[in-house]
Amino acid sequence: MPKNCNFIEKLREVGLRPTKQRVNMCEVLFNREKTFHFTINDLVKMISKKMNEKISLATVYNTVHAFEKKGYLKEISIDSHKSYFDTNISAHHHFFDEDTHELIDCDESDIDKINIRKILQEKNKFC
Ligand SMILES: [Zn+2]
Repeated sequence: MPKNCNFIEKLREVGLRPTKQRVNMCEVLFNREKTFHFTINDLVKMISKKMNEKISLATVYNTVHAFEKKGYLKEISIDSHKSYFDTNISAHHHFFDEDTHELIDCDESDIDKINIRKILQEKNKFC
């Protein structure tokens, strides 16, 4: 099956009309070797560049959220103002580089156990 048909099915599955812009969005998101992290604004720029025409923020926003609801994308909230999305939907951790604003994937096996409860208790002693 040609890959575009898969994308059309994917869009229909999440209840969206498969427009040319949305199929292009699927190509940007899912037709790549490596998974990646992005913000809505990043994606608007990537798709506009790919199609050589502007795509509206609302279209990107709605489509991304429809995919997220269906489990095709993961949302990663950095703070109340900033959310990233991840095309890697398997269980993994993230490091957020505050200087470069880059999210870095981290496998479960790459991290030692962190004793958060103990650290919080220590902190609260001094409050
Ligand atoms: Zn990730």
